[in-house]
Amino acid sequence: MRSISKNYDERDTLFSRIRLEKGTDRYRAYYSDKEALRKKDDPIRDKDFWQNLKESEAFKEKYLPLIEDFDKRAVKLHEETMRLQPAKTREALTNEELFAFAKQAGACDVASLTLRLDDFYSHHGGVDGIRPGKRHGAKVRADYPRALIFCVEMDKELLRFAPRLETLYARKEAYYRVAKTGASVARFLKKKGYRALFTGEHHYIAPLVALAERANLGQRGMMHVLVHPTEGPAIRLGAVFTDAPIEERKKREVIISDFCERCALCLMNCPTRAIKPFSEGRAAFDEHKCFKMFQSFGTDCGICLKSCPFAYGVDTARLEEGRETLDCLVREHLEKHGRIPKPLKMSPFRNVEE
Ligand code: SF4
Ligand code: SF4
Repeated sequence: MRSISKNYDERDTLFSRIRLEKGTDRYRAYYSDKEALRKKDDPIRDKDFWQNLKESEAFKEKYLPLIEDFDKRAVKLHEETMRLQPAKTREALTNEELFAFAKQAGACDVASLTLRLDDFYSHHGGVDGIRPGKRHGAKVRADYPRALIFCVEMDKELLRFAPRLETLYARKEAYYRVAKTGASVARFLKKKGYRALFTGEHHYIAPLVALAERANLGQRGMMHVLVHPTEGPAIRLGAVFTDAPIEERKKREVIISDFCERCALCLMNCPTRAIKPFSEGRAAFDEHKCFKMFQSFGTDCGICLKSCPFAYGVDTARLEEGRETLDCLVREHLEKHGRIPKPLKMSPFRNVEE
């Protein structure tokens, strides 16, 4: 069996790396054999990408507390759920019962996987705080045999305002719902006598996009994020890891990449050219360019998310009909929504000066 030390290391993710403080032992140790990466990471380290927004009094007073509150409440939900012990007696449980509960708790789609050792991160990246948290560098305990993978939809109306505050709000609000759904499912499992750990924005033990792809909840599109067949990239992922005796239930596979090859709207609309054409069938993405754009906008960019036809509905039954049909589907989207879809209504945040 493959050793977990060969697995993907969460410390290698951008969000873990940029939390490393210059001059610290951790910083020096991490970059000791990654000089080229250090040079790319340093310019985006220590920059608050909400800074521009924070210069607006209305944002500071009205919306920042709201957005920060989502974070605080999500972390609290995680901590409270972690403290709960499973009931002493185990009750029977079916996939149908668990999936129905997860949907009622807020998931828009669910699947389950029997986990392999290489599904887990090898080490924690400490992304649970502003600075590398105490888990940075700790080995991940890969001791859950199964997982429920789920997604919640983002507010698509708010996404249409990208790249503005509304995108940031939509992301934070969706991650809060991921936490609520994950916490509810984990508590449900614990009450039935099983171990359960939920992961959302603040605590990961495995890369969720890879798990979601394996469960066929969607596929990485040209923009590099998971594209769900009916919700597009306008989703956030969560997972509940457990020892409950659920079966592996994947979704039916929907091939996104052929459509991407005929569409490329995210690539054309990306203001930094961070998105590249597929390379050997995989999305090629420049994370530094994308993150710099977040910093220059002062909020989430999200132009690629709002550009994707799958966020507006693509007839997935026609995806395998060949190139002409795919071109026709792209044309239909362009005729209806344009190359860069526009907001349909007044923003609820219109009083915020940006
Ligand atoms: S978020 Fe913006 S900068 Fe980043 S890939 Fe998408 S469109 Fe490009
Ligand atoms: S915008 Fe087009 S190319 Fe980009 S991920 Fe969506 S379908 Fe694929």
